[in-house]
Amino acid sequence: MKVMVAVKRVVDFNVKVRVKSDGTGVDLANVKMSINPFDEIAVEEAVRLKESGIVSEVVAVSCGVNACQETLRTAMAIGADRGILVETDVELEPLAVAKLLKALVDKEQPQLVIVGKQAIDNDCNQTGQMLAALAGFAQATFASRVEIAEGHASITREIDGGLETVRLALPAVVTTDLRLNEPRYATLPNIMKAKKKPLETTTPAQLGVDATPRLTTLRTAEPPKRGAGVKVPDVAVLVEKLKNEAKVI
Ligand code: AMP
Repeated sequence: MKVMVAVKRVVDFNVKVRVKSDGTGVDLANVKMSINPFDEIAVEEAVRLKESGIVSEVVAVSCGVNACQETLRTAMAIGADRGILVETDVELEPLAVAKLLKALVDKEQPQLVIVGKQAIDNDCNQTGQMLAALAGFAQATFASRVEIAEGHASITREIDGGLETVRLALPAVVTTDLRLNEPRYATLPNIMKAKKKPLETTTPAQLGVDATPRLTTLRTAEPPKRGAGVKVPDVAVLVEKLKNEAKVI
């Protein structure tokens, strides 16, 4: 059984992002970029399924600029067998990514596609769901446990009230939640090995997908700055201020 994993190149989660002075977006100049954390979890899960003998091949896919090759190498250092880069300089929206993944699903015929629940740069939480709809696959979002047996997947999902377990017929799309696993550190030998793994490059045009953006960003703004705090002499003053100034009690 083949698994496809989608990996997005995003601003590293440790970076404090800056808004461009003209408000048109986030400044990406000289900023550290990394694999989206939920996608690292997706790769780890796929590799664990391979290590347990359920999966025979893990294919990582990234869509975006040429530097997404690094993201694919990271996925391959964790254990993905090969990578596919859908190269474009166009800023991709979730629907375009879902269409590109659907085109690759048609070509590669994976039984399972694992994507992150959301990309930490746009927080869209849309791509997995759109892909499932386009491909006509079953879907389970926010997975915290994945079990595969006899053509089915049992997925435990994190929902508001607790945990829910659903059973899906394969092929299916699963999106990862934070507690699904703890990704391994890629070892130096595995990083070296990853450099030699196959990496194929294609384009939206070759896949027959129009990736032109449909949305326009009107404005990007930093959150309002927090005012300085004040020290209060005792509890009575604190309660008085919370009641009459902050009006929160
Ligand atoms: P989003 O719907 O944008 O929050 O993204 C959800 C998930 O879709 C991510 O965690 C990735 O697994 C996948 N994804 C989104 N954009 C890309 C991309 N450009 N390349 C590869 N995978 C992507």
